Amino acid sequence: MAAQELARAGLAVTVFDRMASPARKFLLAGRGGLNLTHSEPLDVFMTRYGAAAGDLAPIIAAFTPDMLRAWSDELGEPTFAGSSGRVFPKSFKASPLLRAFLRRLDGMGVRLRARHSFAGFDENGRPILTDQTGSPIPETFDVYVFALGGASWPKLGSDARWCAAFSARGWDVRPFMPANCGFDVDWSEHFISRFAGEPLKSVRLSCGEHETRGEVMIAKSGVEGGGIYALSAPLREAIVRDGMAHLQIDLRPDVSADELSQRLSRPRGSQSLSNVLRKAAGLSPVAVGLLREVQRDLPDDAQELAALIKSLPLALLRPRPIERAISSAGGLAFHEVDDGLMLRQAPGLFVCGEMLDWEAPTGGYLLQACFATGFVAGRAAAHYAAGLGLLRQ
Ligand SMILES: Cc1cc2nc3c(=O)[nH]c(=O)nc-3n(C[C@H](O)[C@H](O)[C@H](O)COP(=O)(O)OP(=O)(O)OC[C@H]3O[C@@H](n4cnc5c(N)ncnc54)[C@H](O)[C@@H]3O)c2cc1C
Repeated sequence: MAAQELARAGLAVTVFDRMASPARKFLLAGRGGLNLTHSEPLDVFMTRYGAAAGDLAPIIAAFTPDMLRAWSDELGEPTFAGSSGRVFPKSFKASPLLRAFLRRLDGMGVRLRARHSFAGFDENGRPILTDQTGSPIPETFDVYVFALGGASWPKLGSDARWCAAFSARGWDVRPFMPANCGFDVDWSEHFISRFAGEPLKSVRLSCGEHETRGEVMIAKSGVEGGGIYALSAPLREAIVRDGMAHLQIDLRPDVSADELSQRLSRPRGSQSLSNVLRKAAGLSPVAVGLLREVQRDLPDDAQELAALIKSLPLALLRPRPIERAISSAGGLAFHEVDDGLMLRQAPGLFVCGEMLDWEAPTGGYLLQACFATGFVAGRAAAHYAAGLGLLRQ
């Protein structure tokens, strides 16, 4: 997106990527349907960025969700908003959009050089770019926009090796941690052999004052899924602070504890407790399994049992490795860049995307912030270049 804005301003642009082809993580995001952005009102949208909302507000105001949708539409990939408000291309694919965008960039004269890496800064603070043999290339450039990504899925290209070079120059780079990730749980063999791969649908989850409603997927090693990803920041922080996180699960969020208690206190006859939990409390087999996994001996008292169903505590031991996280928290602190995302004390060097220290849940907020920061950095870089008298024509 930065390349598009620079080329639009009339600059000669080259994109370097260490991989053999660009945008591999974007293509992977396409496997889940490519949730480009979200259609909720902008003031609500901005709250999703938590502590970074203030820094990102002017950036997303400059390139809004509607502008991102228009961009996709112009490239032949019209979008729609699903019932949750999430926005997807109608094709649910990333590859046609990427192909159309690369064609557009090519048409604008943007050169793409694959298997070329940013390898650090020289003694004058100028970025060093290397070719596929690891040798520095001789060309230098007047303006650089870094879009080197965060630290999740390193095999797709963003291996976060840039952090060392940036830290060495004294910039504040916060350690990368997994975001929108699963968490490990010490499941019993019995539970996991029966329920791995099963979803707990539409449960309410809370961690401290943070709450969400969504799906939890039972994985061999722990829990995953949209509901867990949405709480991954407070859960991760609780683990750092306390050594583990306590997730509270309301297995029947639409039924009150009193109502559940009444249903559970009806005479059971010859029914097993599992059957009662399924029929009277409306729990799925995996939800019953989870109750028993967390508390081997379920209480006989209907009120106590209802309370457990409404607030089942699950101990999460650690986040799943960053290699499999959807995104990462951490990166270059916003106080190191100006409003145009130019690095302080480094005129002509700009930064965008997941390199910057912000995080957000899934829902389209990640790509929106990446596109918007790319747009703003590209425009500001073009403005800077104009000041140097670098524009052609
Ligand atoms: C499985 C999965 C599904 C996702 N689904 C969605 C979704 O539906 N919606 C959403 O909003 N977000 C989604 N995301 C997140 C989204 O894809 C990322 O937030 C986004 O791609 C980050 O963009 P970026 O340009 O900052 O970094 P990246 O996409 O990681 O790109 C960084 C680029 O820099 C290159 N690079 C890195 N280091 C160097 C170097 N030293 N030299 C040269 N090149 C280098 C890499 O090769 C890479 O091409 C998903 C992520 C994953 C993993």
